[in-house]
Amino acid sequence: VIPRSEEIAAARLELPVVQEEQKIMEAIHNNSVTIVHGATGSGKTTQLPQMLLENGYGADGMIGITQPRRVAAVSVASRVSHELGTQYGKQVAHQVRYDSNVGFGTKIKFMTDGILLREIGQDFALSKYSAIVIDEAHERSVNTDILIGMLSRIVPLRHDLSKEEPKKYKPLKLVIMSATLRVADFLMNARLFKSVKPPIVQAEGRQFPVTEHFARRTQRDYVEETVRKVSRGHRKLPPGSILVFLTGQDEIQTVAKKLKEEFAQSNTGFVNSRRPAISSRPSNDYLEREEGDNDDSDVEITCLDDYDDAEDAEFDDVEPDPALPRKGPLKAQILPLYAALPSDQQMRVFKPTPEGSRSIVLATNVAETSLTIPGVRYVFDCGRSKEKRYDTATGVQEFKIDWISKASASQRMGRAGRTGPGHCYRLYSSAIYEQYFEDHTLPEILRTPIEGTVLQLKTMNVDNVVNFPFPTPPQGEQLAQAERLLKNIGAINPSDGKVTEVGQELIHYPVNPRFGKMLLLGLRNNVLSYTIALVAGLAVGDLFIPEPQAISNRNGIANEEDEDNEDQNALDSRKQAYGRAQKTLSAWDDKADVMKLLTAVAAHAQVEAGGTKAFCTEYSLREKGMSEVQQQRRQLHSIMQNRVKDPNQAGVSFTSSLSPPSQKEINLLKQLVAAGYIDHVAIRGDKLPNAVSTGRKPTRAGEVAYRTLLPSIAEVEIDRTATPGEQEEQRSVYVHGGSILARLSPHEMPDYVVYSHLSRRETAQGRNRTRMHALTSIG
Ligand code: ADP
Ligand code: MG
Repeated sequence: VIPRSEEIAAARLELPVVQEEQKIMEAIHNNSVTIVHGATGSGKTTQLPQMLLENGYGADGMIGITQPRRVAAVSVASRVSHELGTQYGKQVAHQVRYDSNVGFGTKIKFMTDGILLREIGQDFALSKYSAIVIDEAHERSVNTDILIGMLSRIVPLRHDLSKEEPKKYKPLKLVIMSATLRVADFLMNARLFKSVKPPIVQAEGRQFPVTEHFARRTQRDYVEETVRKVSRGHRKLPPGSILVFLTGQDEIQTVAKKLKEEFAQSNTGFVNSRRPAISSRPSNDYLEREEGDNDDSDVEITCLDDYDDAEDAEFDDVEPDPALPRKGPLKAQILPLYAALPSDQQMRVFKPTPEGSRSIVLATNVAETSLTIPGVRYVFDCGRSKEKRYDTATGVQEFKIDWISKASASQRMGRAGRTGPGHCYRLYSSAIYEQYFEDHTLPEILRTPIEGTVLQLKTMNVDNVVNFPFPTPPQGEQLAQAERLLKNIGAINPSDGKVTEVGQELIHYPVNPRFGKMLLLGLRNNVLSYTIALVAGLAVGDLFIPEPQAISNRNGIANEEDEDNEDQNALDSRKQAYGRAQKTLSAWDDKADVMKLLTAVAAHAQVEAGGTKAFCTEYSLREKGMSEVQQQRRQLHSIMQNRVKDPNQAGVSFTSSLSPPSQKEINLLKQLVAAGYIDHVAIRGDKLPNAVSTGRKPTRAGEVAYRTLLPSIAEVEIDRTATPGEQEEQRSVYVHGGSILARLSPHEMPDYVVYSHLSRRETAQGRNRTRMHALTSIG
């Protein structure tokens, strides 16, 4: 038995997973695969690895635990190490990309799922491990899905090996942990776990009731609404931490700043500029009433849909009385929590809140299931999250803010019920919830391009990817597209589909194979530092702010929210400034958007730290994206450095500044971009052997018709009632207005254009024009 501090020993006993230790360990002893289900905060992540260690699993190989996020892997390792005390704590380590403290004595290793996938590539039997725990399986990340597919084969393999060579191999235990029963999918899938169905062990702990409060109306500006509700909630709610769910770092910083301003008036965090500071009634009167009600949530929901108005009214008639002592107000301690935050700052949310204060944690999805914040009694849920989206038709990947699933909403709500009865304030109405929230989030594999995954599987000798036991198989078209691209860039052999030498190399680069191919060519052609800058820019993406437009809605009526609608002169001068900036950025080449990108990255790299804001404003660049690009450049350089034999090879080591490329280098760079996007080439319609005519003479660059290699629109979608010229127009693609090509005159337009993706939108006339997001001209 491991000696633990009294405090920790007591806290452990409260956790459902520890209470069910016997049941869980028995299932693991008796089965090679076990599924453990328990609500978030029940102790799965922190306790199960310790239980495995105490039951002797660390003796013949490590206990490996995977996490979908780096944040969780690092912070949980440090927590578990702390719980195990000075003697055993040293046996716990973490490994994530760029950071590891694994040593000879490591017995419990927390890592990201990507790290374990790589290790399977090097040693399929995973002989270093005695047990593997896949955590947060309900999130259904691509890596988790692939790992479960792989492990469904590795477990029987280790069983066989342990029979053949019992000295060298022991059987491998697999534990799959999940906060929801979504994992039941795995059991239905006959291709996974063929012979014996794994048992599901429940660690259902005591969860206090959480009252859900839907908003009466759903505000579009949920960031503003969050500030409003949270500051009001802070003033009125009895003690207890507030956990706020937002979608990303930017929002969190905005809300943090506004809340601080709001509370700054008085360091009690009680005074607000618009509202009376002190109530003559107990400030939490309203909520006390509410808690006295029974916890039948249906009843609560109906009465609480009205709560906004009730609360406003309650305050309207109260005059501030400065003579009264402040009753019950708390100071606010605002703590951000998101993946990119340094881990020492993340750890602040686990520290006890100082006496007389209330912690307000502003978090992304990280707090939905990965991290449990102690002491939370109130959850404010914006109902949205930032998710990766993928359009299988065009192959475009983007991050979109959208409604979460009902399952996520319930996870978020559950965060309020660990310490005692809690409240969840939703910033959306129950009508929105019913109408727009899906039951579950789609598994990531169905909403992401999978060329990287397919290449990875193939390097692990899964030649026929269709037969891989995916927990949820990708669509046929997704697989076909991935294979086509990998063949095009030479990563797999066109005849037998096996991984080529190029493919073997690309697997080491942490970027999409298209970008990997560019890096490889950049290295071979001695333009690596430029290529890295370009790839970093393309990988971060969406760096340019579009040309300023007069704000009007679809009907041409000025937007009512836009009080300071500028007059035409101001707009004209902003447009002129924009035009000048574009001209400067296209000084190296006026026909390639990628060169504009490279120019922007190179110029930005030279700006002093304090001057980047002004620089980004002047050149219409997104400041945060640009600083991510500079970070990515560093990382890519260090990876490429590890891949080359000769460390002195030109351009491998990182230098912040980039000198202007020569004309020859510019041509090379444009060619290697085309090589990565070899399947995304468009040809001017009038240059085709049987020239396309739309019957219109283009007057602007954006009206010059191009044709893509593969059809950009399904024939069935062509409007047969249109004139032949209009039908040709529908089959054509046009340069997007944001491209520097759009600034040329029609006769200057290049014969060939390489594009990153296509998009389609209704025009004023109701016709669909397909726009290409140009990367470069060729030839
Ligand atoms: P699960 O994985 O089932 O969601 P965890 O093992 O992550 O649960 O957390 C169990 C409990 O341990 C939580 O209720 C939380 O309060 C506590 N806990 C987890 N990490 C920390 C930490 N770094 N500091 C203090 N308490 C923690
Ligand atoms: Mg967990």
